[in-house]
Amino acid sequence: MNEFEGKVALITGGARGQGRAHAVAFAERGADIVICDRCENSDAVFYPLATDDDLAETVRLIEATGRRVIAEKLDTADRGALDALVARATDEFGRVDIAVANAGVSVAAPVQMMPQNMWDEAISSNLTGVFNTIGAVAPGMIERGYGRIITISSMLGRAGNTNMAAYSASKWGVIGLTKSAALDLAQHGITVNAIAPGNISTPMIHNDFLYGMLRPDLEKPTADDVAPVFASLHAQPVPWLEPAEITRVVLFFAAEAAAHISGTVLPVDAGNAARVTG
Ligand code: NAD
Repeated sequence: MNEFEGKVALITGGARGQGRAHAVAFAERGADIVICDRCENSDAVFYPLATDDDLAETVRLIEATGRRVIAEKLDTADRGALDALVARATDEFGRVDIAVANAGVSVAAPVQMMPQNMWDEAISSNLTGVFNTIGAVAPGMIERGYGRIITISSMLGRAGNTNMAAYSASKWGVIGLTKSAALDLAQHGITVNAIAPGNISTPMIHNDFLYGMLRPDLEKPTADDVAPVFASLHAQPVPWLEPAEITRVVLFFAAEAAAHISGTVLPVDAGNAARVTG
């Protein structure tokens, strides 16, 4: 269980959902943790993002493992803030060995009606934020000749869907960014890999806005009402997967032993990968 003892792992979007699951899992396995989250809603996102209390709860869960944690409220679109966080982590914990570029938002509207701020939000949080995370951690990793970077794309980074032009474009972008970064960093002992999740059971999918989009025939759809629609997006008959299923793959890519796996995209999407190329 101490596989990551002596390592420092940075996870963006760590206040809740998948990011929290990854952060706690690294701490349970011996790593010190650096998390950040914006903890603020966005006009372009029609469900609540994380809160200060969510971030505090992740800190509590990490501290309960006995590991150290640095937690900051910041927007990953802000490169200066991320650089400062990495500088603080380097100062206090000595380095960042592992980075999980997990922060992201879901926006949805038909492309012909999509407001500019929705497009801008998806690109800045889901794509520029990942670029900024890689850019902030890469110099220290190069100096030490070691790093594991994991980016979070989506099954919509391998296909399109109605209403998803901005989200899908941002997640396809993450894959191009991941593969190119893997090549740039290959000679420095740093791997860069992407995970492409299916529907994961977090507030990003369990919210009134998305439920209403998926079941416009109902006034107040419940999780049971939307489950068959979510299941139709997978091949296996399950509507959603737990964050722990993504965490397992994050831990796999972050392992020292995964030294020669880089530039890959691993789908965890209940078989939907069988329907698309790549
Ligand atoms: P979530 O909404 O629970 O968590 C995302 C976290 O990121 C939130 O805490 C939010 O406050 C934070 N965040 C958003 N924009 C930010 C920014 N610009 N700067 C800092 N923090 C920011 O959802 P989740 O499911 O845990 O999402 C994690 C990642 O997984 C995202 O990149 C998402 O696109 C991706 N993903 C999710 C699903 C799904 O079905 N839930 C599927 C595929 C991919």
